[in-house]
Amino acid sequence: MSANRTEQIHSYCIHCAALCGIVAYVKDGYLVKVEGDPNSDNNAGTLCPKGLSAKQEIYHPGRLKYPMKRTRPKGDADPGWQHISWDEALNTMAARMSEIKALYGPESFFFQKGSTGGSSGSEWYRFFGRLSSLYGSPNHGGTGHICCYSRSCPGLPLHFGNKGLHPSIDYEKTNFILLVGYNILHTEPPLARKILDAQQRGAKLVVIDPVLAPTAAKADIWLAPRPGTDLALFLAMHHVIIHEGLVDADFLKYWTNAPFLVRDDNGLFVSSDGNPYLVWNAKERAPQPANPWFPSHVEPALNGSYSVNGISCRPAWQLFTDMVEACSPEWAEKMTWVEAEDIRRVARLYANTKPASTDWYNGLHKSSNGYYTAVALALLSVVTGNWDVPGGLSFESDPTFKDVKGSQHLPEGWINNSLVAAAGFKARAYNKEYVGPMNLVADAILTGKPYPIKGMLALASGMGTSNPNSKKMMDALKQLDFLVMGDIWETPAMAMADIILPCATHWESEFVNYNPPYLMHRRPIVEPQHEAWPDLKIIFELAKRLGFGKEFWDGDIKKAFNTMLEPFKVTVDDLDASPPGVRYAPPPQPYRRYAATDEKSGKPKGVATPTGKLELYSEKLKTLGYDPLPAWREPEPGPVSTPDLFREFPLILSSGFKPMHWLHGQLRAVPWLRECDKEPSVWINRRTAQKLGIPEGERVMVETPKRDGTIQGNVVLKAVLTEAVHPQVIYIPYGWWQGCDSLALEGYGSLDGSANVNNLYDDSFTDPVSGTIGMVSYPCRVRKE
Ligand code: SF4
Repeated sequence: MSANRTEQIHSYCIHCAALCGIVAYVKDGYLVKVEGDPNSDNNAGTLCPKGLSAKQEIYHPGRLKYPMKRTRPKGDADPGWQHISWDEALNTMAARMSEIKALYGPESFFFQKGSTGGSSGSEWYRFFGRLSSLYGSPNHGGTGHICCYSRSCPGLPLHFGNKGLHPSIDYEKTNFILLVGYNILHTEPPLARKILDAQQRGAKLVVIDPVLAPTAAKADIWLAPRPGTDLALFLAMHHVIIHEGLVDADFLKYWTNAPFLVRDDNGLFVSSDGNPYLVWNAKERAPQPANPWFPSHVEPALNGSYSVNGISCRPAWQLFTDMVEACSPEWAEKMTWVEAEDIRRVARLYANTKPASTDWYNGLHKSSNGYYTAVALALLSVVTGNWDVPGGLSFESDPTFKDVKGSQHLPEGWINNSLVAAAGFKARAYNKEYVGPMNLVADAILTGKPYPIKGMLALASGMGTSNPNSKKMMDALKQLDFLVMGDIWETPAMAMADIILPCATHWESEFVNYNPPYLMHRRPIVEPQHEAWPDLKIIFELAKRLGFGKEFWDGDIKKAFNTMLEPFKVTVDDLDASPPGVRYAPPPQPYRRYAATDEKSGKPKGVATPTGKLELYSEKLKTLGYDPLPAWREPEPGPVSTPDLFREFPLILSSGFKPMHWLHGQLRAVPWLRECDKEPSVWINRRTAQKLGIPEGERVMVETPKRDGTIQGNVVLKAVLTEAVHPQVIYIPYGWWQGCDSLALEGYGSLDGSANVNNLYDDSFTDPVSGTIGMVSYPCRVRKE
């Protein structure tokens, strides 16, 4: 950067998925300010508080400044951190990792990264995955178990065949937006403009959220179910849609497995003469092969009961309708606290408005019934013909960058040797998903079963506060033979680390990405402060020392970017030659992908599910030992499923939505942001607070039980009295651990007496399909401190 003049650097913020284009003003290598780039399609010149605070984040005096190693035993109040060089840090890491691999096998080393929604992990995770694959460990996880499993991971591939693709709404075309547990106006602020514009032209916004979050406050209709009972709400909506004839029957017949005949005796599909699936042809009153696709003389029956070769059977749709028959709005009112008439109103509005879209996020995942809840919600789009159509529930295009994750380097049969397979999460193993649930890792460390986990490299991961049952996680980290943690700040979990690494902020690092309308090389807008390194550089340098130099482009990150850019036929040099980047127009969003024609056969390709169709009924789940249909099940824990716990702990603890100024557990040290929200709090309904004698602003203790009724943990918070939560529900914002020196606000730690809501959960309540931990409907009690 040239001296004595202010340079304008085009880049983008990657603190959230919105990827806002920015212009950084840099003088003599110093960041003066950041502005939204008016030419960016994503944000059109706007930035949220996190982006605008870049300068305070970069130059914060409390950042980790250099690599350090502990000199005192774990458990000492003072780890005796000693400044070491990057060479010493990386050489030690490579030596200890090789030793652990030789002694216990590669699976005994865990690669942990924090949320891809924070820092630049959503970019560098590809190379982190490559490193773990080359090392040979099938145990590589993030935060999906408390974030997005039921949005993209286990639910959608099996039923709908689109692994890893996120819902994507075309807000200009949709006439109905159903958002569930997704405070999108704050978590992806540039989308707020699109949603409010859609409302202005007449689209309806319906928000389902137990808390009156900012997005719910803008809704045309807000439904506030009892936390964890969204599944009952969706089943009742299906009930109304079926009863009132609002189903798109043609779509069900031809693009889903709704007409496939299911045996009454074992729940598997009826097969015959080499045909794996049969339907009942209503025109000829006879069975007919369903595979590959129906000729025109077939009219597949959706309802009824039949006999095929002496086997009694029914179409999958009949089983689905039988299941939801009991789920009337009146039944759901008892389960959810939402009035039956409101459920009817929303179901009718949704089914009668075309196109109607839906999207969901964190709020739906932290529940022991999250898997089936997401499936039932997604099926609303299927049964009404809103699936993968413009303005309906569509999905992102396949990523265009060349895949560099290197999963081909994993040893043969790796999934069978993973913790996820050993723990019995068969659907996840079938989908070949990395381990994910961090409680499995903590259990393996503490018990040595199914095999010991001895070492861990964790980047951008505040494990001491970001995982349920923080106490257990901290105990587990303490037991590791070798733990390295890299981050921007010293987090509570680092008290258990052997080496800590100072990471660069994303503003000080580089990557290549599509930031409409540009393909962009995000160069550092300033050099990393102190001795910080970008995560990517750490990964590449460690890879070389572990002997993977060749597979890591001999440490040349630019060459790695050029590999990623190959599909676009441009290089990093091309991107740099025309700042802010090269204009790129992606192919138009594909729709109706289920109907795309296979060039060879001339027939529809279908979707990547076991049956090739969208699946209302999953035979694969059935054979794996799970329910093939998204039938109602209470969340665990909960006032109905664990009434004994609720006798002593009568309130329902819910935690979830984050406001615009926070990025999960990060950034609370940044004063401009901390001024928005100075103190951790608990939201209590005014009537409940009055009964408990708790005035506004009082410091209160929230306590929760373990599964056996003994105390799990407590937190101490400021009471905020509100009408935004139900009288039986309290709400605790998550992510609080850090202080803010410039506002004289001290940090809180992560265990009892802290402000860390994750200290309150026993992690043994899990969704049997996905492994997601039951956190939305947790028993608790509140008292004055
Ligand atoms: S954090 Fe804010 S500025 Fe950054 S990408 Fe997201 S919305 Fe844009």
